[in-house]
Amino acid sequence: MFCPECKSLMISSAGQLKCRKCGYIRNITDKDQMQIRTVRQEKEIVIVEDGEQVRTLPTIAIRCPKCENNLAFWWLRQLRAADESEVRFFRCCKCGHTWRQYD
Ligand SMILES: [Zn+2]
Ligand SMILES: [Zn+2]
Repeated sequence: MFCPECKSLMISSAGQLKCRKCGYIRNITDKDQMQIRTVRQEKEIVIVEDGEQVRTLPTIAIRCPKCENNLAFWWLRQLRAADESEVRFFRCCKCGHTWRQYD
């Protein structure tokens, strides 16, 4: 979903798409919803491919939402250039479940 005005990536919030750069806003349509889902799936695939790296990552005492184990690897990832916020990812040391946390 790119802004028709300035071509930067738009973010979805409260049922609307917003451009951070120029402030353009429009409502999310059914077609947009499908696109958002596709983008999410692509991100999940990227996370799985990080498998090789995981062994060298630091661990943190945090509860796995899946198996309730209390230790997980964690790393930070910048999602997209237009989205400045970093997202923290966790992967359970026991069952391998991966999830993310937004600050
Ligand atoms: Zn714009
Ligand atoms: Zn787990």
